[in-house]
Amino acid sequence: MTVKADLHIHSCLSPCGDLSMSPRAVVERAVELGLDLIALSDHNCALNLPALETVCRRQNLACLFGIEACTREEAHILLFFETCAQAQEMGEFIYRLLPEIPNIPEVTGDQVWVDADELILGEAEKLLISGADISLEDLLREVRRRGGLFIPAHIDRPVFSIPSQLGFLPNLDYDALESTVLPCPVPQYGLPVIQNSDAHYIEDIGKRWTAYEMEAPGFKGLKKALRKGRA
Ligand SMILES: [Zn+2]
Ligand SMILES: [Zn+2]
Repeated sequence: MTVKADLHIHSCLSPCGDLSMSPRAVVERAVELGLDLIALSDHNCALNLPALETVCRRQNLACLFGIEACTREEAHILLFFETCAQAQEMGEFIYRLLPEIPNIPEVTGDQVWVDADELILGEAEKLLISGADISLEDLLREVRRRGGLFIPAHIDRPVFSIPSQLGFLPNLDYDALESTVLPCPVPQYGLPVIQNSDAHYIEDIGKRWTAYEMEAPGFKGLKKALRKGRA
């Protein structure tokens, strides 16, 4: 089947994400738009993923468990996991590597995590948009150890992308590349190029998306589709 997926959506846990972006609101909007597969990928943190899992089960929507990690190079990488537990473990690992810079909600925005019914459960203390003290290569190794997918985010952007930070895209073992524009302006090493909304507001969900051919929407299907998509 053709699966319409938006795999880069921020929730109210990201300081730049709107407070209305609860997992419940995100999933309701995704269902309304007819998306078949979504992922939440908050900055350096996985605390809203248990709520995503519950709401997706209720709404019968397939999801992946994502994190948008920021490395020492200040490059953003999308990480996807099959289970919520894997992503949470990775999220805890990355959070520990963030500098001890506190988030000041009045300045940078709220970083709240919630349950499936939008009850606020807590606030992440460290500023989540900082770079974690880990290199690209070490992050890749840690993600592989946990069975996750590793996809450089918005590689066309002039900030917070691998090319913007390093001046080029090193040829590592990526699963795909994410670009906000097509054709993708940097060398792709034969990798599939995917598009996602990077939504921070409800109205932006699904503004960019990718169609994949897979048996059923989910992690295994995506992994297979990306491997097949390699030129
Ligand atoms: Zn980003
Ligand atoms: Zn993002």
